[in-house]
Amino acid sequence: MIRKNEIYRAEVCGFSSEGVGVCRVEGCVVFVENAAPDEEYELRITHVGKNAAFGKIEKILRQSPARITRLCPDAKRCGGCDFWHLTYASECAIKAQRVTDALNRLGGQNLERVPLTPAKSCEGYRNKAQYPVAQTKDVAVAGFYKKKSHEIIDIERCRIQPDCAQSARAAVLEYLRQYGVLAYDEVTQRGLLRHIYVRLAAKTGQVLVCLVVNGEALPAEPALVSILRRRVAGIQSIVLNVNTGKTNAVLGEKTRTLWGADAIEDELCGLRFRISPRSFYQINRDQAEILYEKAIAAADLSGKETVLDLYCGTGTITLCLARRAKQVIGVEIIESAIFDAKQNAKENGIENVRFFCADAGQAAKRLREEGALPDVIVVDPPRKGLSRDVLEAITEMSPQRVVYVSCDPATLARDVKYLCEAGYALRSAEAVDLFPRCAHVETVALLSYESQIKI
Ligand code: SAH
Repeated sequence: MIRKNEIYRAEVCGFSSEGVGVCRVEGCVVFVENAAPDEEYELRITHVGKNAAFGKIEKILRQSPARITRLCPDAKRCGGCDFWHLTYASECAIKAQRVTDALNRLGGQNLERVPLTPAKSCEGYRNKAQYPVAQTKDVAVAGFYKKKSHEIIDIERCRIQPDCAQSARAAVLEYLRQYGVLAYDEVTQRGLLRHIYVRLAAKTGQVLVCLVVNGEALPAEPALVSILRRRVAGIQSIVLNVNTGKTNAVLGEKTRTLWGADAIEDELCGLRFRISPRSFYQINRDQAEILYEKAIAAADLSGKETVLDLYCGTGTITLCLARRAKQVIGVEIIESAIFDAKQNAKENGIENVRFFCADAGQAAKRLREEGALPDVIVVDPPRKGLSRDVLEAITEMSPQRVVYVSCDPATLARDVKYLCEAGYALRSAEAVDLFPRCAHVETVALLSYESQIKI
């Protein structure tokens, strides 16, 4: 039995999905932050849980050549990134290994090494920033949550955010100071400003700033608009989102435009897309383009197919597919995203698409009952992966190919296993890094139906 506060010798044998090092001490799994591959430590055990323990590096006995000095001075405290202490090459290797291990161990595959496309840049790549705001004694602060807490670290410059986000943050803090506007307090539920939320359309340079407010309005809104317009290059839209709930969700239901357009527009895969505050848009545009190109290549369309795109968001993948298919049906649960998707189809002059606002499982079930027989089904679910009813509907509609775009290798692997047991075979899997310095990784997997009887 390992004991709290005792020191043990241990080697890093892998990494968790959160980017935390995994060691084994006397048969027990110990999670270690700031670990590097193949390092050996003297670890102090800080917590012993039921299934795992946690340890802190006291001394590095064998140091990895992948360990570097962090470029971000706040990386150790901030809950945003995980890998600033490693070379980017080492980070990519960890991510590729994680996808491979998940597909092999949980997905029943026997893959050698899943290839990964690294990002071209590790800095300023995000097109969405969400700064929580809080009131300290006399000033408001805005930054990011400290690891595992809601304490805000006042971060002036975040290396993965674009310049427009940092200037919007500074401009809003200036407005709060000048007009004595108070930040929201999670405990007392008093105060007004909850979040500064910024979105950038990276290709067109358009910027949207959204102020999330515990109320219907802010004092001196025209002054706020004028400060933002002066300080944020490319600003096209300033909106106020009402969120008066006792909730961790950043955005509330209602949005009011304070100045400019209601949404911004970006260009992706040669098409134009509308981005409104509530709709999903991949946070790394350039890498998303690569991810979508891989998904479209995997769909292998000839122009004759009917394609079903489940979890379609604003129709990004749907519209790319439509250019190569007979028709595409997109399904998405958020109404404003479906509104954007329809608008996007219209603006790009694409007519062979239909969009439904529905739960993917219910829509798939209904389509199956109506006798829909898509040739290809594309899915791009949130981290929890596909629900049982989606999986059942897929296997009953039995498309020739399933293209699975995943942001969580573990749930991807679980669903791959299900589909393989239902007659599909995994043909390819490729990872794309959309989140440099963070532990997340995207994967495109292609499954095709194996045991079809050919007449
Ligand atoms: N394919 C899109 C969106 C992927 S993100 C793109 O690449 O831009 C996943 C999407 O699934 C989100 O837009 C989310 O709103 C949607 N979603 C989440 N749960 C859902 C459900 N149960 N049914 C349908 N869509 C859902």
